[in-house]
Amino acid sequence: MSFNSLGLSDALLKAISKKGYTTPSPIQQKAIPPILEGKDVLASAQTGTGKTAGFTLPILQILSQGQHLRQRPIRALILTPTRELAAQILANIKEYSEFLDLKSTVIFGGVNQNPQVTQLRQGVDILVATPGRLIDLQNQGLISLAKVEILVLDEADRMLDMGFVRDIERIIKVLPSKRQNLMFSATFSKDIKKLAMGILHNPVHVEATPENTTVDAITQIVYPVAKEKKTELIIKLITEGNWKQILVFTRTKQGANKLTESMISAGIKAAAIHGNKGQGARTKALAGFKDGSLTALVATDIAARGLDIPLLPHVVNFELPNIPEDYVHRIGRTGRAGANGEAISLFSPDETVFLRDIEKLVGLKLPVQNIKGFEPDPNASKEPIKQGQGRQQRDSTPKKPKTDTTNRSSNNSFGPRRPSQNNDRHSNR
Ligand code: AMP
Repeated sequence: MSFNSLGLSDALLKAISKKGYTTPSPIQQKAIPPILEGKDVLASAQTGTGKTAGFTLPILQILSQGQHLRQRPIRALILTPTRELAAQILANIKEYSEFLDLKSTVIFGGVNQNPQVTQLRQGVDILVATPGRLIDLQNQGLISLAKVEILVLDEADRMLDMGFVRDIERIIKVLPSKRQNLMFSATFSKDIKKLAMGILHNPVHVEATPENTTVDAITQIVYPVAKEKKTELIIKLITEGNWKQILVFTRTKQGANKLTESMISAGIKAAAIHGNKGQGARTKALAGFKDGSLTALVATDIAARGLDIPLLPHVVNFELPNIPEDYVHRIGRTGRAGANGEAISLFSPDETVFLRDIEKLVGLKLPVQNIKGFEPDPNASKEPIKQGQGRQQRDSTPKKPKTDTTNRSSNNSFGPRRPSQNNDRHSNR
């Protein structure tokens, strides 16, 4: 199937071809036609399936064909859980709308609101927003949603995980009741279905089938290592292996900072990305990682979610995640789109319970390889350092974050299917 056959306008086809896309992804093939017909759509799709273009392309087409009002009221509202995701969606919209007369902007928390307000005052057709900042501006009377024709809830499951349900309900109350609704979610829990039922009218259900099971293309290795030697080992792997781009996961923000400092001291260009980092620092770190000026990006699980990081040859679990699903999210960052990748786990004895949970989830015994000089003491305790770090309750009550923390489902370009999502949030990640 080609983009031509989806009924998209020449202006959009030109932008698509400029992006280098030749074939619509499965979610695009399935979602674009019903959206163009004006139907509500409930899509099961995760990051990496091309879902952003799946909803932004038809929205751009609908808006460009509709009536243009001089004041440019907001006609499409895209709600998304995190700032990074919001910024990525806007970047996509800007590219796809290059040859159209449509304006778009993004608003999210954690940064000064004034430039956002200035943009809004100038008029925008499409607004990408995180719920907190949107409500904030709305409460200040700085935004009008009275002309919204299309509402998108992207990463709906993440939004619920992050405690945004009340905010979403409040936003929906101020939207015109006649509108088109699109909802994207990687998973469909009871709560998601309830939310969908309250928002969507006779939705068309579409589902993305990932093109490959990346897990097959990923070499997974576990290196048993004494806890206190992990830093030394990762530095050795990077420097001796001459690795150029490596994503490293830690369990905690403090752990990410500490490891980053050690790497920098060892001459490795590294930066940490986690919830305590300001927006500027996070954007800078990600940009540096993408353009190759940084070798290592050290991230917590929540911070890494939803980042559109291109194909990575190496992902290292500096610490195993205490939530087994996070392991699948993490390793899905390598071996994308059929390319081979290597997912390495540095495993210390106190993580035995985490490894056991991961192997249970993925249904595999992960291959173990000892590295001489780094083996842990065979008598070391297998108990987790802190009690209660094992498998968490998946349906624990979500807490609302203070700001829009980075939290997004994480499968990658046409990447693996996640076994399931986890609803836990941890303040130290
Ligand atoms: P998404 O799932 O929307 O985050 O998209 C994942 C990645 O796939 C992004 O880098 C997109 O630019 C890219 N992408 C989206 N649609 C296509 C397509 N039809 N062909 C190739 N790449 C695509």
